[in-house]
Amino acid sequence: MKKILAAIFLFFMLFSTSSATLAEIVVFNWKTLKYHKPSCQWAKKCTQNCTKVDKKEAIKQGGKPCKVCGG
Ligand SMILES: [Zn+2]
Repeated sequence: MKKILAAIFLFFMLFSTSSATLAEIVVFNWKTLKYHKPSCQWAKKCTQNCTKVDKKEAIKQGGKPCKVCGG
């Protein structure tokens, strides 16, 4: 019985930590230094200067949120 409880506990621990550290992917335009939500119309139009990166990484590189989608 204790083993089952431990397994359930471990499962929830893993689940909560993995969802908390889940990276938020944004479309980062390294030319204008703006980042967009992947669903943003400008992100879809941006095919040459954009790369998909973690939001934290985009901010670290001097990225600013898009005024249309909010980043
Ligand atoms: Zn946008």
